[in-house]
Amino acid sequence: MIPFFTGFAVIVWMLAAFYRRRWQSFASILLAMLFMAGLIRFHSYMGEVTEGRIYTPVLRHVLIGYACFVGVTGLFLACIPRAFPRGCCQGCGYDLAGLHHLRMCPECATSVRESLARAARRHGPTGEPPAPPPRAPESPAAGPR
Ligand SMILES: [Zn+2]
Repeated sequence: MIPFFTGFAVIVWMLAAFYRRRWQSFASILLAMLFMAGLIRFHSYMGEVTEGRIYTPVLRHVLIGYACFVGVTGLFLACIPRAFPRGCCQGCGYDLAGLHHLRMCPECATSVRESLARAARRHGPTGEPPAPPPRAPESPAAGPR
């Protein structure tokens, strides 16, 4: 039972994160939620067929909470923006090497100027991550001795 709960969540979240901002991500979450709905319905059916000898309402409520947790976390992961490398269109990831003279990305029509500006904000103007702010020089009177 425990490997199911952890393994199912890890598989759904990995698919949601790997394909984030693509239809495959949302489709995997939808399929997972349909599977959980079927599992919850199956537990209700087991309770009905055995006429209460298998007590299922508690497990059913645990499964409902678990399905909500997996689904909401999966949606969060699916909505995280994709980060494309510097020099690529920040809308679709198309390599813009040698195409900086164009106004629009040939794949998705995102503005090339806006895309390059967004990449510069994300990666820094030289392609390095932004440097930390310089520290103020320590004055000799400050601080305990
Ligand atoms: Zn593009």
